[in-house]
Amino acid sequence: MDLNRRRFMCVCGGALALGGCGGGEDDTPSQQTAEVHGCTLSAAAGTTALPGCGQPQASSGNAGLDQAFRQEFDYQRSFWNLPSVSFAFLSDCDSPNAYANPNNMAVLFGTTLAAQTYSKYGTPLPLWQVLAHEFGHMMQFVYGASWLNSGTAAPRELEADMFSGFYLIYAKAFVSPAEMQTSLQQAFSIGDYAYNNQNHHGTPLQRMAAVVAGGKVANEYFAGAIPQTVDAMRQRFYQELRQIISW
Ligand SMILES: [Zn+2]
Repeated sequence: MDLNRRRFMCVCGGALALGGCGGGEDDTPSQQTAEVHGCTLSAAAGTTALPGCGQPQASSGNAGLDQAFRQEFDYQRSFWNLPSVSFAFLSDCDSPNAYANPNNMAVLFGTTLAAQTYSKYGTPLPLWQVLAHEFGHMMQFVYGASWLNSGTAAPRELEADMFSGFYLIYAKAFVSPAEMQTSLQQAFSIGDYAYNNQNHHGTPLQRMAAVVAGGKVANEYFAGAIPQTVDAMRQRFYQELRQIISW
């Protein structure tokens, strides 16, 4: 592990410009609690209205997974130099999702999403990709993302996917190609085709491509091909995004 890499974000500045997900996105269903607010992982959010659902939880229900989450969350928070971000699980019941709340900088990770994803792939890597997607939203909240406003949530969501790909190439480069592929499968699986819905997050192919593009930018970043700043990184994200969004 190259510790110089781990500290790279600490040298980056940026104006504080907190804001909502924007772009016309409204993924805060009225039946859910106030904590369940902000940018979501996928468009399939907010159908849960069962008693006891939509509440923060201290545990995923799997002690080993809880410990792995804590360790990974601390690492990602340090990686992005976002000490104010907090984490909790959420009883997402029959509506698996994850949230990044701009109001209290809390990541809420659904227990159903965690259990289903871990069971499906047999490795926690796709969970860390989802977590990195939520940190991508946190970066948007802190550094701004008004240029990603559009009729749908897709530009912001795809940029958050790029943040996750950037992180994976940095922090998980040691995993096998087969294991890395699970993260791309995860990104593909949560795409949607609701083009005319303001909560459209991007098609399956766009979501997977955004993760790949983020990894591509990471390689450029660490090779010194672009300035090592958040601004330069996101300018490259935007170039890639313009291509992906036009598909
Ligand atoms: Zn999202």
